Amino acid sequence: GSLAWNSHRHLELFYGLPGLGAALHTANPRLPPEHVAYTIDFAGYEWLFVDPDTLPLAESLAPRLPKLRRVVVMAPGPVPATSLPDPIGYEELIAGKPGTLRWPDFDEKTASSLCYTSGTTGNPKGVLYSHRSTVLHAMMSSNGAVIPMNPDTTVLPVVPMFHANAWGLVYAGPICGAKMVFPGPKLDGASIYELLDKEQVTLSAGVPTVWLALLDYCAQNKLKMSSVKRTLIGGSAVPISMIERFWKEHGVEVVHAWGMTEMSPLGTTTRFNRGERDLPDAERFAITAKAGRPVYGCEMKIIDDAGNDLPSDGSVSGNLVVRGPWIVKGYMKGDGQGQFLKDDWFMTGDVCKIEKDGSVVITDRSKDVIKSGGEWISSIDLENAAMGCPGVAEAAVIGVAHPKWDERPLLIVVKRPEASVTKDDLLKFLNGKIAKWWMPDDVVAVEAIPLGATGKIDKKLIRQQMADYRLPSV
Ligand code: AMP
Repeated sequence: GSLAWNSHRHLELFYGLPGLGAALHTANPRLPPEHVAYTIDFAGYEWLFVDPDTLPLAESLAPRLPKLRRVVVMAPGPVPATSLPDPIGYEELIAGKPGTLRWPDFDEKTASSLCYTSGTTGNPKGVLYSHRSTVLHAMMSSNGAVIPMNPDTTVLPVVPMFHANAWGLVYAGPICGAKMVFPGPKLDGASIYELLDKEQVTLSAGVPTVWLALLDYCAQNKLKMSSVKRTLIGGSAVPISMIERFWKEHGVEVVHAWGMTEMSPLGTTTRFNRGERDLPDAERFAITAKAGRPVYGCEMKIIDDAGNDLPSDGSVSGNLVVRGPWIVKGYMKGDGQGQFLKDDWFMTGDVCKIEKDGSVVITDRSKDVIKSGGEWISSIDLENAAMGCPGVAEAAVIGVAHPKWDERPLLIVVKRPEASVTKDDLLKFLNGKIAKWWMPDDVVAVEAIPLGATGKIDKKLIRQQMADYRLPSV
């Protein structure tokens, strides 16, 4: 197991441990402690690799690690005192060992790594990757049409390695001969900017919330990301305002990706058809704001609640189901049985439209979609529109109970420092940009919107925080 941030030592584990025929579980130190404990229970670690600042968390989990034989601290210098068994420093562990290895032969279905979903609906669910799924996913994503990389590329995965193997970049980057740069635990705007600049990063990857902090830091300090050509953004919907800012303020092209831990994780990325790159900015941004087209090897379709296929012509939204060689066939412990459908289709839990040209437009997580008068309102579309309003730093939309309509949308915003945007300003701004009946019934300004363990907006927590909230009209 590892409990660690993105670093070159952590990268080595992704090769060294599966290369022995062992499996690496990248536990997520940002999960609530009871969830970390839950995820490590099953793995039964014998070795645990930690960073100095995750060592205390590992110590607190000691009662859940009965098989642990050795803890390895991934930092240079002396090992901090610890109650965990047989501690050793990473450099001491590998000192004097050969730098090359002949890969052993074993079944391609041997487990290579284990990741848990972030548990937005309950306990996290375990997804075990095999050598086969990992290699196929890496070969697919290193295809220049998916994540453009080659030996001249310098990649900064801000997305954590414990989040689906840094979206598979730990394998796809080295396959392309790219230089890899790792940020360690510091993910604030200033630290990321400094690293981008110092290492002349050309491609970065992460969830939208990380990029908001970076864009704001650059704007406040009048800095430009001079070396970056592209940034891969996914994990949640990318607001069009962010696509525009990256391009207009920094000349950086956003590659929008949709996927899931269960899919290793890539399912779609933005790919411009011939000629589309020459379209006017606004049209290009609109293409990027969709989640992209399916990557080769990943089949997708939408179905209704009874399981019938729906048309892929952009006319209707439905439940997105997927299948392919790097998509889970089952969770650890037999969890989530209902998501595994016949003929290997996997129910993603996302609701989307699939357009005629294959573009996927994600409407919502099925549990986040707002049902008003029997019709669906997309919280993602509303958030996207609100993020375009000057003075709004962050936006989240949830459905709240309404006696007549069942649910109505509530818009929650974090204002930019010193911005004086009011509820009326926001509703006026949205007028004409969204369907009339989608107009939020209320707007609440808050200090901060809670984020989950992978840096995405945590709607479950927002709903808990707003449990006592009542709409003014009710
Ligand atoms: P995770 O397994 O933590 O990566 O979460 C996967 C979920 O994140 C998906 O099922 C979606 O609900 C959401 N997600 C990922 N990428 C996107 C995207 N580009 N747009 C909207 N939602 C996304």
